[in-house]
Amino acid sequence: MYIEALKKELKDKKYRMTPQRELVLKVFMDNESEHLGAEDVYRILFANKHSVSKATVYRTIELLVEFGFLRKLDFGEGIYRYELAKKNKMHHHFICKHCGKIFEVEEHHLELIKQELESQGFVFEDFDFKIYGICPKCNKKMKNKKEKKK
Ligand SMILES: [Zn+2]
Ligand SMILES: [Zn+2]
Repeated sequence: MYIEALKKELKDKKYRMTPQRELVLKVFMDNESEHLGAEDVYRILFANKHSVSKATVYRTIELLVEFGFLRKLDFGEGIYRYELAKKNKMHHHFICKHCGKIFEVEEHHLELIKQELESQGFVFEDFDFKIYGICPKCNKKMKNKKEKKK
């Protein structure tokens, strides 16, 4: 589905669907629950014996962002991460301060915010909401440690 849409989009903009573009998009489709950085994408392609240069991976990802296939995410790590823009569920991101894992939190209120904004004449385009804390696994580990010390 994504691949077909990408092909059309590229054709409309007079770009060609190159094997590399298809490969990069496929990595995101195969890892839908992940929030991959460009280095991760490069590593996955390399591990699957695809010879795509790092520069091409970076350029391709930027292009996919520009076309609206990927959403660019900044979790303050000094690198960007990306996810498929058209995931069926709107969600927020919970970042564990301990292990750095990113969890998706389902969005329930955005429709209301959107309506509110639109009723005032704003045009809603995108959102970026991050929650920081400790994930259940780390929380458990930390609790266990504390109990052992007693
Ligand atoms: Zn954690
Ligand atoms: Zn996400």
